[in-house]
This record gives sequence, structure tokens and C-alpha cells, in this order.
Amino acid sequence: MSTNESLLAKSQAQTSNREREEEAAVVCVRGLIKRYSDGTAANRGIDLDVRCGEVVSILGPNGAGKTTFLRQLTTELKPTSGQIEIFGVDAVAEPQRAKRMMGITPQEAGVFETLTVREHFEFFGRFKALSKREARIAAFDIADELGLGAEINRRVGLLSGGQRRRILIGLALMGRPPLLVLDEPTTGLDPASRQSVWQVLRRVVAEGATIIFSTHYMEEAERLSDRIAIIEGGQLLAFDSLDKLFARLARSYRVSHSDPFDPLSEPFIRYFATFSEAQEYVARERLSEYALSRASLEDIYFTLTGERFKDGAEGESA
Ligand code: ADP
Repeated sequence: MSTNESLLAKSQAQTSNREREEEAAVVCVRGLIKRYSDGTAANRGIDLDVRCGEVVSILGPNGAGKTTFLRQLTTELKPTSGQIEIFGVDAVAEPQRAKRMMGITPQEAGVFETLTVREHFEFFGRFKALSKREARIAAFDIADELGLGAEINRRVGLLSGGQRRRILIGLALMGRPPLLVLDEPTTGLDPASRQSVWQVLRRVVAEGATIIFSTHYMEEAERLSDRIAIIEGGQLLAFDSLDKLFARLARSYRVSHSDPFDPLSEPFIRYFATFSEAQEYVARERLSEYALSRASLEDIYFTLTGERFKDGAEGESA
């Protein structure tokens, strides 16, 4: 082999090592089962790997087991059986070590009404082992990032629901943990606040973080995530990129129309394998008002779960 060839071979080997590193799973879940003490089987054998730098969203109907799944990842709940590894640490056996690598949104009840926004962030920063000075700087930075700069010295009890929600996200970001696990981070936020949260999450990913989040917003899953996990009945129905999920749909054209005699009723939705089949249906049914489009993530979700996705199921309260 010439010197050039051997250099090339060496650099190719280095590239594939790097690719392997990037591909390496930082969250590794195997056979996860959670049965609550009343017998409810909330997770029934979930296997899932998340790669470094990935954004993974978790979708599923209410009661599907999403929160149960995330609370086991964050070590708040102990699995009935199964394994969870976070950056190589056994999160079931060593929850404290695993937790140190995670930023999580605490339950809303974990916010202290009488503390100011700055005090919250500083307190959490100290908890994440930042120095007093670092915690103060981080508090101002994060408040600005989340559009809470003007509120920094206000008591949390005086803030709106949407502002409190952003504080919870800010707490997860303190100390820039390599993994963020967020349960419905933008539920209750108005569209502008949601956009500002997306911007922040995109930035932390660009800086190298990995994110797993559940959401009630289809658009959020489509826009933010590299892969989408759909959970129903405690099981993983699908876990793939949007493109690969689309490729699974045999009928990827949809026609929706309302009942002309009852325009306020739920629209009829029909799926077709080709555009011309969809057009033939429109002609045959003599539809004058209809929408013909490519299928969306919502349609994949419906095909898999049999349920229509209800965006923002808990409504807005910003
Ligand atoms: P999701 O987040 O997808 O709405 P959850 O994980 O909250 O679903 O709930 C999954 C199932 O477990 C539901 O049937 C729910 O009623 C049940 N469940 C959740 N928490 C508890 C609990 N602490 N004790 C008993 N059952 C629970």
C-alpha cells in the first residue's frame, strides 16, 4: 500500500470510528415493564435506544404510558422489571449517578410561590454544583433565552401559567446537562412562547445535548424530532424518523370532506394508494368541498393507534 493509500485507509477508519461514536446509544432501554401497585400495566415491555445528539419525541393517546415511561428514565419511578442505561450508567441500580446527567422538568408543584424567578434558577444551579457566580450568570442567561428577562425579580406566585411552565424548562436546562427528559414541555404555552422554547431546545441540541420529550402537539414532534416514538397500551408501536414512518403507509393520499347534510359533524377521511385513485373517489362521490393532500404524521398516528390525535389536549393557559 502506498503512503497515500495507507493515509486514506487510516482517515476512513477514523471517520467510521467517529460515526460509530455518534451512533452510540446514550439511552438504552430493554424490556421495560411497569406495573403499578393496583395492577395497572402502564409499560409492557419497551425496548428503545436513543443516540447521542438525537431529539426523540414520544406520542400516544392519554393513558398510553408516556409519563410512566419518562418517569422511569428520570429515575423517579422504579421499573417493575427491565433495564435502563443512561450514558452507560445503570439507572435502576445507580439512580443518583444517572440523574446527574439529566435535566428534567420537575412537577409544577415543585415550584415555590414565594421565590423569584432568579432565586429559582440560582437555587437549581447550586444544586447542579455550579458556583454562586456561575449560577447567577446562568440564571440571567436562561431567563433571557426563555423570554423571562423582564420577570427575573418577580415572585413565581405572581406569574401566568405559561411563564411558570417556562421556568420548569429553565430548571431542566441549568448546568447544561447532556440529556434532557421533558414531559410535555410546551403544554399550556401560547404559540409565541412555544416557538421560543423550540429555539432554546434547538440551540442546546446544536451544542451537543440529547433530548427525549413527550408532546400533545403533532407539529412539535414533526418539527423538532429526529425520531418519533408512538406508544399505545404501554407498548412501542413505532420508533422511526418521519420519512421512514411515511414509507410504511400503503395509502398515502387522503381526502377529507364533511357530510353535506351535516356540515358540523366530524369530517370523513379516506386514504388512497395513488393520487388518481383519490381523484376518482372525489369524482364518484361528486364532492364539491373537500381537501386532497399527502398523508401527515397525524395519519400515521391514526393508522397505528386507531385514534385521531387531539392537538394540545390540555388546552392553552398562557
Ligand atoms: P400517559 O402519560 O400516556 O397519559 P400514564 O403513564 O400517565 O400515561 O398512564 C398510563 C396508565 O397508568 C394509565 O392507565 C394510568 O391511569 C395509569 N397510572 C398512572 N399513574 C398511576 C399510578 N400512580 N397508579 C396507578 N395507575 C397509574
